[in-house]
Amino acid sequence: MKTISHWIGGKPVEGTSGRFSPVYNPATGAQEKQLALASVDEVDATVAAAKAAFESWGQSSLAKRTAILFKFRELLDAHRDEVAELISAEHGKVHSDALGEVARGMEIVELACGISVQLKGELSTQVSTRVDVASIRQPIGVVAGITPFNFPAMVPMWMFPLAIACGNTFVLKPSEKDPSASYKLAELLAEAGLPDGVFNIVQGDKVAVDRLLEHPDVAAVSFVGSTPIAKYIQLKAVEHDKRVQALGGAKNHMLVLPDADLDFAADQAINAAYGSAGERCMAVSVVVAVGDTGDELVGKIAERAKSLRIGPGNDPASEMGPLITREHRDKVASYVASAAEQGAEVVVDGTGYTVEGHEDGFFLGVSLLDRVPVTADAYKDEIFGPVLCVVRADTYEDAIKLINGSRWGNGTAIFTRDGGAARRFQLEVQAGMVGVNVPIPVPVGYHSFGGWKDSLFGDLHIYGNDGVAFYTQGKVITTRWPDPADGGINLGFPSNS
Ligand code: NAD
Repeated sequence: MKTISHWIGGKPVEGTSGRFSPVYNPATGAQEKQLALASVDEVDATVAAAKAAFESWGQSSLAKRTAILFKFRELLDAHRDEVAELISAEHGKVHSDALGEVARGMEIVELACGISVQLKGELSTQVSTRVDVASIRQPIGVVAGITPFNFPAMVPMWMFPLAIACGNTFVLKPSEKDPSASYKLAELLAEAGLPDGVFNIVQGDKVAVDRLLEHPDVAAVSFVGSTPIAKYIQLKAVEHDKRVQALGGAKNHMLVLPDADLDFAADQAINAAYGSAGERCMAVSVVVAVGDTGDELVGKIAERAKSLRIGPGNDPASEMGPLITREHRDKVASYVASAAEQGAEVVVDGTGYTVEGHEDGFFLGVSLLDRVPVTADAYKDEIFGPVLCVVRADTYEDAIKLINGSRWGNGTAIFTRDGGAARRFQLEVQAGMVGVNVPIPVPVGYHSFGGWKDSLFGDLHIYGNDGVAFYTQGKVITTRWPDPADGGINLGFPSNS
């Protein structure tokens, strides 16, 4: 069985802890690989490699950094199929979806290729007589990224391209469930000419994460994952004096007004609820049908849901793949039964679904629940699977009250033909990312990604301008080149003249 190792100082390094975790192919249910889990000493060795590399990388020219990033972008483009195959084999998502993930990650690499524009700084001349003031931004040192299973290539690329473009060195702790895609990215970075130690991977579980959070040489931590762990990461990182951005879970609502094009809305609800088997932090998991749209909309969604083709990710005919693990599949399925007990109408029941020839795979059909009470577990929890809840609301006001009552505020969307209603929604809704007739409003690379409330702990969102701010620290330089006439003692607070 293949063992996946660490990547430290520009090369593979075998694990020595004697601890491993299984890596499955979710489409077959078979364990095909094992992952070496790091000990505290192995984390320390990784951080030491990153710290040593920072000495020169932090001083390297923008020209050198961007040349390497441009080369990495070319290599990633050339290897996008291979990366997508690795994603699909360990995560389960279908190949086209995995390719989309690579493309969205590549956007941040492209942003990082233009880092010289973002790091231009500011200069004010003659703020006082013969005095100039410059604001510059400098790297912060070794930064760590801790990432979830659901985007094993894209989410690491939300972090490291900008981090290293800004002059930092990086330690990635990928999800233990699907680590191979980011490992391939490490190989491509090395091929692109990135100096050893600038990008490192330490494989691991809580032991590795806790050590990164405590390590005195780690300056900042970017985390993406579930809400309870995001909250834990933020508290522990702050306790250890680190800068932190911790993106958490979600329950994204899609509001459909009576004037919306219901066929279009139904198509978009299907794509956003069941794409990637619902394992997206921006998946639509609740449709809020306003007024008398409910019956017709639910009918249209149900009709489409029943015709989805579910199968292994490497079969071009599949539109939706399996879930990440057997345990997760069973947990997702349990929400359908509990919702029925708690008062919801099960319109489409995807539990008990099997794929011929892949009976041991972690497959689940899609489920549609209507009139879900807000007290039901299926409404209250982040299910993270192909289960779409529909909630009915009499008016726009009732709908917005419901959405703003959620503990999460990651993404949300409104479907309408009414510009005034859409504008009102944009301003009133409590969420970090809003779509108008766009169901999964994941911002492009040059705008930042991040939610509100329990969807993000920390201040700065990820990538875009916030990403540059997160991975740099500001410095302001006040300069005077005195004239022989200047001088004299004055104990007053400096003022401008
Ligand atoms: P997770 O929180 O279980 O794991 C994320 C990372 O934290 C992994 O690297 C894991 O090894 C580590 N981890 C897990 N338990 C830990 C613990 N007790 N102590 C320290 N580290 C721990 O999340 P997941 O299941 O891999 O991913 C799915 C979750 O991520 C969903 O909740 C989803 O909404 C969220 N997510 C959010 C965003 C976003 O941008 N807000 C994006 C993608 C995924």
